[in-house]
Amino acid sequence: QEDQFKKIVSHAKEYGFVFPSSEIYDGLSAVYDYGQNGVELKNNIKRYWWDSMTLLHDNIVGIDSAIFMHPTIWKASGHVDAFNDPLIDNKDSKKRYRADVLIEEQIAKYDDKIEKEVAKAAKRFGDSFDAELFRQTNPRVLEHKAKRDALHERFAQAMNDNDLDALRQIIIDEEIVDPISGTKNWTEVRQFNLMFRTEMGSTADGAMTVYLRPETAQGIFVNYLNVQKTGRMRIPFGIAQIGKAFRNEIVARQFIFRMREFEQMEMQFFVRPGQELEWFKNWKETRLKWHKALGLGDAKYRYHDHEKLAHYANAATDIEFEMPFGFKEVEGIHSRTNFDLSQHEKFSGKKIQYFDPELNESYTPYVIETSIGVDRMFLSVLCSSYEEQELEGGDKRVVLHLPPALAPVKCAVMPLVRKDGLPEKAREIVNDLKFDFPTHYEEKDSIGKRYRRQDAIGTPFCVTVDHQTLEDNTVTLRERDSMEQKRVKVEDLHRLIHDTVSI
Ligand code: ATP
Repeated sequence: QEDQFKKIVSHAKEYGFVFPSSEIYDGLSAVYDYGQNGVELKNNIKRYWWDSMTLLHDNIVGIDSAIFMHPTIWKASGHVDAFNDPLIDNKDSKKRYRADVLIEEQIAKYDDKIEKEVAKAAKRFGDSFDAELFRQTNPRVLEHKAKRDALHERFAQAMNDNDLDALRQIIIDEEIVDPISGTKNWTEVRQFNLMFRTEMGSTADGAMTVYLRPETAQGIFVNYLNVQKTGRMRIPFGIAQIGKAFRNEIVARQFIFRMREFEQMEMQFFVRPGQELEWFKNWKETRLKWHKALGLGDAKYRYHDHEKLAHYANAATDIEFEMPFGFKEVEGIHSRTNFDLSQHEKFSGKKIQYFDPELNESYTPYVIETSIGVDRMFLSVLCSSYEEQELEGGDKRVVLHLPPALAPVKCAVMPLVRKDGLPEKAREIVNDLKFDFPTHYEEKDSIGKRYRRQDAIGTPFCVTVDHQTLEDNTVTLRERDSMEQKRVKVEDLHRLIHDTVSI
């Protein structure tokens, strides 16, 4: 799995999806750039989300708020005081780690031990093996499980109490070692604020410390009344936004899963107090359906309901996706009560209540939030689409089975040879299709190599123009996944491709 992930990362670079930022200067940690194919895939993901929010729901509208916001917003939201990660340094390697992540990895080690026992027994007993029974009765498995559960409980308590000493004690008791130096020589655990700070205005005028937003949601909260009034919105209604967010994350691994500059797609849904849990349930289901509709495989998703809730939330769940490194959060759905709007009322001194004409009363709405990382979604699409195939005759190909609606290029048109008027005919077909969906012209290398290149970037269709085309205006249409080729009329191409690739 780790090998597979490495291959995906290098494939993403080789085929113009994702490059390390500032690469010629040896890169910038946990920052990445999207290349010529990556930007198209990313834009398609954003469009798929945006359209599903704003077109399919007539009570959801979009905004695009600025990254810089008044610094008091981050005081009101709680980010200045509490948007922290617990950090610990190793004295020998001088490396910095997130204490919570070190402990989570330790918990995962117990899970691994359990899985190894199960795999070993499965091999030994063959077909008659009952994995479930084995998990419930094998003494070694039960011992690992007991240790795991005890650690999990202790960790959850420490996190909930914000008890830094307790986190350190867990690291000591579990004899966790620094993966680099291999030693246990740790410093204290301390809080580290994840917001990036900068200054606005010249110092002579008195510069103001401002933050790069760590989430897009606050831009929606502070504009809630503007949108409600000018859009004549009636509760329940939602505001959607896509934009960059910045966090000074410490763990700089797992490629684009955790970055310092990333993009979020968030939707805040404003409801009557008392109806929030019903709406929470509703959005939880709607969002999972949306993910599954992409066809990456239903079994790759699961909910992770939060047992311990943040003080402002009364329900929270994550939608997790099975990445090559395990099930990981791609989207969070939270019932945030009226916490944010009330805080902004308090800190701004402005009334931001809603007058409900049906109830004939004013109140501060409750909020359900759906928050998804564009880059994490990108990674989930990429990882689940990547396949190395052995073909008949010993050939190999790497194919990205991207959902056609998300593929950067929908169709590549290729003249069989670079003469006899075939290139001209191929270009004519490109010009006919390219305004309705991204269509590329390809003439370099053998036809086989051209197919491989398109497979590697996930192009659903290839069209080959040959001598027969000039006689009867038919072409070969090749489908990416099945590699099936059929002879079709040029005038049917648009319909055949458009039906598959449109969202
Ligand atoms: P995590 O626990 O993984 O740090 P989070 O719970 O802090 O995530 P939220 O604050 O709920 O994340 O943000 C909503 C979404 O934004 C996440 O589900 C994730 O998809 C995305 N996201 C958050 N942090 C990052 C990051 N550093 N890089 C890429 N995407 C991120």
